[in-house]
Amino acid sequence: MSQFQLKDKDLFRQQCYINGQWCDAEDGATIDVDNPSTGDIIGQVPRMREADTLQAIAAADRAFPAWRDKTADERAQLLYRWYELMMEHQDDLGAIMTLEQGKPLAESKGEIAYAASFLKWFAEEARRVYGDTIPAAKPGQHIVVIKQPVGVTAAITPWNFPASMITRKAGAALAAGCTMVVKPASATPYSALALGELATRAGIPAGVINVITGSAAAISSTITSSPVVRKVSFTGSTEVGSQLMSQCAEHIQKVSLELGGNAPFLVFDDADLDKAVEGAIASKFRNTGQTCVCVNRFLVQDGVHDAFVEKLKAAIERLKVGDGFEDGVTQAPLINKGAVDKVLEHIKDAREKGGKVILGGEAHERGGNFVQPTLIVDATQDMEFCVEETFGPLAAVIRFQDEQEGIRLANDTPFGLASYFYSENIHRVWRVAEALEAGMVGINEGLISNAAAPFGGVKESGLGREGSKYGIEEYCEVKYLCMG
Ligand code: NAD
Repeated sequence: MSQFQLKDKDLFRQQCYINGQWCDAEDGATIDVDNPSTGDIIGQVPRMREADTLQAIAAADRAFPAWRDKTADERAQLLYRWYELMMEHQDDLGAIMTLEQGKPLAESKGEIAYAASFLKWFAEEARRVYGDTIPAAKPGQHIVVIKQPVGVTAAITPWNFPASMITRKAGAALAAGCTMVVKPASATPYSALALGELATRAGIPAGVINVITGSAAAISSTITSSPVVRKVSFTGSTEVGSQLMSQCAEHIQKVSLELGGNAPFLVFDDADLDKAVEGAIASKFRNTGQTCVCVNRFLVQDGVHDAFVEKLKAAIERLKVGDGFEDGVTQAPLINKGAVDKVLEHIKDAREKGGKVILGGEAHERGGNFVQPTLIVDATQDMEFCVEETFGPLAAVIRFQDEQEGIRLANDTPFGLASYFYSENIHRVWRVAEALEAGMVGINEGLISNAAAPFGGVKESGLGREGSKYGIEEYCEVKYLCMG
């Protein structure tokens, strides 16, 4: 940890957290974790496999009855304490995140606050898991619906939001009375392990939450072949999500899938262009373009195309590329070399198909995992970036003529996570909002994530919702009681 000193060194955990204990892999194997800004090895975490995963599942299973039987208020207080501890340690948690994930420190601290907000939100929601009474079919009969926790659950999470993708699941699961085994991405285990440390300090009982790092294939196949695990919640790529969904078929495990997107960002002739550019920068370049709700396709109407491009170019030129620990940096490195290659491949493909690079277009002079923020115009829907997520700082602009064409292009993708559009015309706002095939629509707004709102996608972007009052339902079974 060369660039910073943690105020609380015990937050940097290099072991896994099972049944309230810190432990190594059964065979002692480890994985190296590096800093994407420098390539330096930060440390090692256990490379757990089947036997370790079974131990974590068994711990969650043993902890379940007592956790389920706590009152909602008791669970809420523990979750709330976990939230408070995250906020008390926001600086250290942010630093750990920047070290392993690369994102600018201010963004890391922002993610910690966002991640903690799910614990707070679900601490409150724990008290509101209401049932129903329903008019019965016969005199003297009573129909009552109660909600109960599904049981032992598992979360498999990605590297791009190392803390919030965990709390968005664990907050809901624990509030509902479920226990959980969490497997974070191998690139960003330390943020997850720090959450385990804070869960202990918050007084969350042993086994209620367990964090294991290691082989994705071995851990996930152990989870999906265990009849003890009743639900798997996955955030990551559509490819892996689809594979996990078929694995979950064996024991009919419930699944929630938060998968990839290919968000369109429509700018209509009647848009406020300054607002649109502000939203475009926030949505496209946050986390250096590595968010599932990142704009992947700018669709701009002919009448404002040139003016929008000019303003967007000026805004991109103001972005500062560098190590996430440097002051004022807004664009950090990508997670690894593979991510850099993908962005450069999308730029090359766009060039070959007639796109014009008007800013950037190359690897950054800093080398390593840095890429220049890039702007391409004259893009077309047959380019590779329209088929798969770029996951990097490439803004490519497609021109369209009228509203119908804009909507058709926006929906011309197998994905349906986020979408955005800018218009000052209230009639158009309603028409377009209803026509876009997406789980989330930002209307004159580029930042849509919020613990109070339902997050999730349609089409190949996923199943289920996280956050909001809907998020806790994913961890509840509905039981019908028929009283004669
Ligand atoms: P990924 O699918 O490669 O990995 C996600 C998780 O799955 C990691 O923990 C990884 O170790 C594990 N994994 C990898 N291969 C596996 C396998 N064969 N079986 C089981 N688990 C496996 O995704 P990533 O590269 O870490 O994350 C980026 C992707 O996540 C993007 O597609 C992004 O859009 C998506 N994402 C979606 C959301 C959302 O809420 N919809 C949020 C963040 C990221």
